[in-house]
Amino acid sequence: MLTIGILGLQGAVAEHMKQIQGAGLNAVVIKKAEQLKEIAGLIIPGGESTAIKKLMDQYGFIEPIKQFSEEKKPIFGTCAGMVLVAKQLSDSEDAHLNLMDISVKRNAFGRQRDSFEIPLDVKGLPEPFPAVFIRAPYAEKAGSDVEVLASLNDKIVAARQNHILVSAFHPELTNDGRFIELFIEMVRDANKNPIS
Ligand code: GLN
Repeated sequence: MLTIGILGLQGAVAEHMKQIQGAGLNAVVIKKAEQLKEIAGLIIPGGESTAIKKLMDQYGFIEPIKQFSEEKKPIFGTCAGMVLVAKQLSDSEDAHLNLMDISVKRNAFGRQRDSFEIPLDVKGLPEPFPAVFIRAPYAEKAGSDVEVLASLNDKIVAARQNHILVSAFHPELTNDGRFIELFIEMVRDANKNPIS
């Protein structure tokens, strides 16, 4: 059975565990970089991207996650996770993991709209998805290799580039498993044995 890891340094870890297990896969909390070897896909959860980045530095996660990505193993960044995988941040000189060709603005929806839920059209889902936004980022720009999966007021809030998936919202905070299923499909595809 495939195992998906959730980076367990800070943020919404338990909710992702539940959704992955609910979909019938194994879920493990990743606390040490060595554990990356045991998993087929990695979720970088929402939380506070600056705090998660600090802890990733402290626990030596940056290079091992880059290596994981080099091996084309699927990575899903939600909210703070989307900030962490971006190649460019609009409010800071250095990006974090530098994995996906998007330029991300943090806390982008402004104060009065700190948190909200909205039915969102997502490419590949026939019915709108109940998207929960909490001090969410959006992507202002995306490279030509990036497939935009959802936009809100013309801002990119879900996207995919090869083996990397991001959402500015929190699919783990709803009972709707369709968005995480998109990621699980990516993990399954990456693990199909090539027919020789
Ligand atoms: N505002 C947070 C950040 O920029 C993200 C919030 C979230 O993950 N819900 O890190």
